[in-house]
Amino acid sequence: MQLTAAMNANARGVHASVPPAANAEHPSVPAAGAIEVWDASSGVEQRLTGTDLARNADPVVATAIANARAVDAFFRTTFGRDGWDGQGAPMRIIVHAPNEDGTPNMNNAYWNRGQQRIFIGDGDGRVFDPLGGAFDVMVHEATHAIVDSSVHLRYSGQQGGINESWADVMGAVADPGDWLIGEDVFTPDVPGDAIRDLEHPSYTRLADLPSGPEVGPHELSALPSLAAVRVAEALGRGEMGRIWYRALVEHLDSRAGFAGAARATLDAAAELHGATSNQVGAVLDAWKSVGIDPRWKGARTDT
Ligand SMILES: [Zn+2]
Repeated sequence: MQLTAAMNANARGVHASVPPAANAEHPSVPAAGAIEVWDASSGVEQRLTGTDLARNADPVVATAIANARAVDAFFRTTFGRDGWDGQGAPMRIIVHAPNEDGTPNMNNAYWNRGQQRIFIGDGDGRVFDPLGGAFDVMVHEATHAIVDSSVHLRYSGQQGGINESWADVMGAVADPGDWLIGEDVFTPDVPGDAIRDLEHPSYTRLADLPSGPEVGPHELSALPSLAAVRVAEALGRGEMGRIWYRALVEHLDSRAGFAGAARATLDAAAELHGATSNQVGAVLDAWKSVGIDPRWKGARTDT
C-alpha cells in the first residue's frame, strides 16, 4: 500500500513548473528560495541535506520537495514574494509526518504556526495518497503561512473562513484548469472527486449558512471562495489572483469579517485599476452575488 501510494504520487503529482534562471517580472526578488526538509518516516525527524535533499530516493519525499520548490517559485514569479514571510524565509516541510498520537499515515497536511513548518501526512491510501503529491494542497498550506505573516486572524468564525478561503483560492490560482482542491491525492479509488470544489460549494449565499459548531472554517470558506470564482469568471483567474493576493498582504486587517475581506479586495482592485473601473465593479458584484455586502466607501457608483 505504501509503495503503491508513493508511486502514484510520483507519477502524477509533480508540478511541472521549474523556477526560472532570473525573475523577469520581479527583478529584485531572488530566483529561488531555500527549502528545509525533514523526513519523519523513522519516527524521529531527520533533517535532509546534500544528496538526500537534492535527489531523494524516496519518491514521496522527492515529490514533496519538488512541489515545495514549485510553490516557492509560484509566489516568487507571480507576485514577487520572497518566501512566505516576504523576507526570504525558507519553506520548511516535514514529510511522512505522523498523526498527533505518533501513528503513521496521517490523512492531513497542515501549517504549524508555532514551528513555522508544513506537516505533510502520507495518507492511509484510502482517504488520501501522500499529500505532498498535490501542488494545490501545498500552495494552500503555504498561503496559511503568508496569511499568518500578513494579518492576525482567529481560526474560527468568519475569520477562520477567510483564512481557509484565501488558502484554497491561491491553490486554485496556482493550479488552474479546475476549481478542485486536492483532487490529485483525495480518495485515490474514486475518480474525479476532491477535498473541496470552490465552484460548487454546499452553501452559495450568506443567508443559507446555518450557525453552529458544525459550520467551521472549511464550510465558511465557501462564500468568499465562490466570490473569487465569480471574479475569475469576469476578469480571468490570473487577474482575480492579483487582486486577492494584494488584498491579503496590503489591505486585510485583523478585525475583518466577510464584509471586511470584501472591502480589502475592493481596495486592492481600486488601487490596481481605479475606483470606478470595471474590475472594481466585477469584484463588488461577485460579493453581492453571495449575499455579502461590503458597504464599500469607494467611488464606484451603481448605475
Ligand atoms: Zn487550510
